[in-house]
Amino acid sequence: MNRVVRPNRRALLSSALVGTVAALAGCSSTEAQTPTTSASPEAPPTTPKAALERLMEGNQRWAQGDPQAPNRDPARRQAVAQEQKPFAAVLSCIDSRVPPELIFDVGLGDLFVTRTGGEAVGPVVTGSVEFGPLTSGTPLIVVLGHQRCGAIKAAYASLHDGETLPGNLPEVVTALQPAYEQVAAAEGNDPIDAMIRAQIELAANGLRSSPDLGPLVAKQDLAIVGAYYSLDTGAVEVLSGAPS
Ligand SMILES: [Zn+2]
Repeated sequence: MNRVVRPNRRALLSSALVGTVAALAGCSSTEAQTPTTSASPEAPPTTPKAALERLMEGNQRWAQGDPQAPNRDPARRQAVAQEQKPFAAVLSCIDSRVPPELIFDVGLGDLFVTRTGGEAVGPVVTGSVEFGPLTSGTPLIVVLGHQRCGAIKAAYASLHDGETLPGNLPEVVTALQPAYEQVAAAEGNDPIDAMIRAQIELAANGLRSSPDLGPLVAKQDLAIVGAYYSLDTGAVEVLSGAPS
């Protein structure tokens, strides 16, 4: 074998292209330099109000069946490969029908997403949600619960009927117990949906009272919004914490 290793022309060309895109994206000080080939050249919002508006506009497109699916092309992948600056953090459920990037019609590098069963929180989860706001000034956190949440339903059944769940699921149930206790006494028509909404508010309030996030909220540098997603309509309803 007397093989000469030669740079492949196609590889050279594509690496030059990659270099150009990376150079465009590398200048983080100016948001206007998003590659023009990206589906969404819009600059990311930097205030809580603008961030929520961006998400709700995207959700409206999603709910109407007219998503733009922005920021999902190879140019965007390259643009955020070295550095990310998501404009919102979302704490949502593991449910397969509630993927935040789809339902808010955003793309790669737009969101920090933390997902647990029923938005159950604990120190590791809270730390993960805090990551964006505390390290890179992410202006918005959305706690997103949803209609017919299986995790909430299972937790309700476990606590109401004394069902024992397998594996580590009882840890999730324990984390959701405060929401159960809030609705158990009320005995309303739809205790599962009431528990879903209670959990959204409890998780959002817990984050708002964090000694690290609270001051950012007070200064209006950060908004922590509670929101509910309808599986039937695809629409997100803001429950609390919308920035003025
Ligand atoms: Zn769920």
